[in-house]
Amino acid sequence: MSAQVLDGLALSRAVRADLKVRVDALREKGIIPRLDVLVAAQDPASLSYVKMKHSWAAKAGMVGESFPVDENTTQSQLIDKIHELNADPLVHGILLQHPLPKHLDEQDALLALGSKKDVDGISPESLGRLLSDIPGFRCATPYGIMQMIDHYEIPVKGKRAVVVGRSVILGKPAAIMLLQRHATVTIAHSRTENLSELCREADILVAAVGKAEMIKGSWLKPGAVVFDAGYNRVEGRQGDVGDVEFESAKEVAGWITPVPGGVGPMTVASLLRNAVDSAEKTAN
Ligand code: NDP
Repeated sequence: MSAQVLDGLALSRAVRADLKVRVDALREKGIIPRLDVLVAAQDPASLSYVKMKHSWAAKAGMVGESFPVDENTTQSQLIDKIHELNADPLVHGILLQHPLPKHLDEQDALLALGSKKDVDGISPESLGRLLSDIPGFRCATPYGIMQMIDHYEIPVKGKRAVVVGRSVILGKPAAIMLLQRHATVTIAHSRTENLSELCREADILVAAVGKAEMIKGSWLKPGAVVFDAGYNRVEGRQGDVGDVEFESAKEVAGWITPVPGGVGPMTVASLLRNAVDSAEKTAN
């Protein structure tokens, strides 16, 4: 058996084409959706992710600026910048590209960001809204996974879901979103015992670990739906690999996201979708 591939890149193209139509309509009203980014100036990986986000935003007709932060940036300068962008009516979304330089307190910055322009959906206020089932911007990576679930009509209600990883930006919100869709959810982490057995119980498996190819095909329930959020660099190999060993997993799973081309592109599409939603709110 070979699993069907959940094509996140193709779906992200469709989402972005839809966004372009909405952005064009906003531009006719004189509103140009704008996503600004605070990014660590000395982190090549972050800079390249941000470049890609700006490029996809521009293709959808949006604008945005990057504000580099470095070892000379103080916490109060960072917070002042966030307050300034929050107060600027021309800015609809603000992204704090993780990780910021180590001397800066990211949680404090996210508290200052609040939820109004937090289009990445990771501030404590946005996450509280998610947990409380109050409308707000949903965390981009798990929101992207939910859009794949909707697009491919994957049944979730009553199903057993296992989320491996409990980070604030990925594992936990993914688990909450699946719970809101009436899955029975287990969250696994580095101290979970018998992880492979637990994974074998999952109708839906979300891998959000950050360990290259840790989850093997033999860990999966036949026919399971597998979302691999992992992006891992491996020495001597080109490109990134996921947390799931794709070659063995695809022989057991029913559906699976590839890396690259699965969860990653849908994360960016979701971020842009949130930013356009934010801009539309200012039009009403
Ligand atoms: P974190 O490092 O913040 O969290 C990793 C989680 O995995 C932790 O909860 C940790 O457990 C758990 N974990 C670590 N080792 C094991 C293990 N051996 N068995 C079970 N659980 C384990 O990572 P992120 O959530 O930020 O990212 C996870 C992956 O997703 C990374 O590869 C990252 O690059 C990728 N990512 C992809 C995005 C996308 O757009 N597709 C966006 C964001 C991240 P514990 O809590 O006990 O330490």
